[in-house]
Amino acid sequence: MKEDKKVKAKVQSPELRIKNFDEVNLGYTDEEALKEASRCLQCQNPRCVKGCPVNIQIPNFINAIKENNLEEAYRIISLSSSLPAVCGRVCPQEKQCEKMCIKGFKSDAIAIGSLERYVADNASKNDSIKINPNNGKKVAIIGSGPSGLSCAFELVKEGFKVTIYEVLHKAGGVLTYGIPEFRLPKKIVEDEINKLKNLGVDIKTNVPIGNAITIDELKKEYDAVFLGTGAGLPKFMNIKGEDANGVFSANEILTRINLMNAYKKDSKTPIKKAKVAYVIGGGNVAMDTVRSLKRLGIKTHLMYRRSEEELPARKEEIEHAKEEDIIFDLLTNPVEILTDDDNNVIGMNVVNMELTEPSEDGRRGVKEIENSIHKVECDMVVMALGTRPNHEAIKKSNINIDEKGLIVVEDTKTSIDNVYAGGDIVTGAATVILAMEAGRKAATKIIENTK
Ligand code: FAD
Ligand code: SF4
Ligand code: SF4
Repeated sequence: MKEDKKVKAKVQSPELRIKNFDEVNLGYTDEEALKEASRCLQCQNPRCVKGCPVNIQIPNFINAIKENNLEEAYRIISLSSSLPAVCGRVCPQEKQCEKMCIKGFKSDAIAIGSLERYVADNASKNDSIKINPNNGKKVAIIGSGPSGLSCAFELVKEGFKVTIYEVLHKAGGVLTYGIPEFRLPKKIVEDEINKLKNLGVDIKTNVPIGNAITIDELKKEYDAVFLGTGAGLPKFMNIKGEDANGVFSANEILTRINLMNAYKKDSKTPIKKAKVAYVIGGGNVAMDTVRSLKRLGIKTHLMYRRSEEELPARKEEIEHAKEEDIIFDLLTNPVEILTDDDNNVIGMNVVNMELTEPSEDGRRGVKEIENSIHKVECDMVVMALGTRPNHEAIKKSNINIDEKGLIVVEDTKTSIDNVYAGGDIVTGAATVILAMEAGRKAATKIIENTK
């Protein structure tokens, strides 16, 4: 039978890329994209579309690639997504559109994400976006992550005056401070932000909403407020020694690297020069952290309490991390961080774990194996165990939150009149595409309710 493997885009070689922060995946050439697009069966009932959270008309845009009409392909994608260059790169495609692709049952699924990225990177975009005349209404958006950006985009097109308030000195949320340059070049995010600014969106950075400016005050000035403040607070294990010098949260490491350029030689806020680092966790955050530290010349381990099969990170990141000689310590968990007399990290006591039967949600549990505690040596430990919502913005309001601290919404509306919310602050840590869609839905509601 004829081979029907997907066309793989070229990547920087592992030997080269562990010495730089440039993008790893180099993207399709025209020829490669055409070849991959030609594998698509153009299904009448395309399962892939159902797998995409925003239902991009995948066969149609792939067909436009085949017809060498990238502008049309871009137009089709843009009907459903305002950040295709981002989502083509970072969506967990293997759990979404590509998982559902019919080709995947007998051979490789179509590389939908890579094709989407190809279109976004190569189409000469018609930036003449139609903007309705000013409708006299004003909306404040708190947070400039994907939910805030996509909400702003939809509103400004309708003629709203939109102001985004961002606590950090750069806009973009996790796209800017979390996901490293080698996965998502910052130029792409900056271009998206500049596009919004050119459309008239006012982005005010270094403004923490919550204390000096409260939601109640914003409500007086604006017709509606959208909260897209994400879930940026790190979680810790609460084990002995976690307060030692050399223990960090992944957020801190990634923020220093991405936002404060700590990887550059002349950085004024460099990262501790460790010899051996253990990153604890198995999601995208853990993978981004461990691969960033590797690029700083540190011997890096990823420690995860379940097995490889349960690693929640994107498949491509796991493959790339392995190629980069990251050491995977699976089915292992820290129980204590060991320190010297000056409270510097010198190692960890860790325990071996075993998987237990899956629970109702289908996820396998884990338990410690008796008498398996042993010591590992290291001088840095980074906790990448997930995040929780930060309530700074809402602390002086009486907005309803649930037992996990997430904002409760009905159709994107919070318990306070004219205040809407979406993205990680509502769902907990999720994905770029879901945050973006939540921002879009909230914009639709704001448009409906402020007429
Ligand atoms: P965020 O992107 O978190 O943006 C919230 C913004 O609000 C931030 O800029 C914050 O500074 C600002 N803010 C917070 N409080 C205030 C305040 N009081 N006043 C003003 N501004 C405030 N998803 C994927 O789909 N694929 C991936 O590969 C992927 N990798 C990831 C890697 C990392 C390291 C991380 C952390 C997350 C990753 N995610 C990934 C998840 C994804 O990035 C998030 O789900 C998404 O960014 C959530 O968007 P958001 O708009 O809700 O919030
Ligand atoms: Fe697939 Fe994400 Fe693109 Fe949807 S947005 S088609 S899930 S890569
Ligand atoms: Fe093409 Fe796969 Fe979608 Fe069918 S399911 S239209 S083969 S991408």
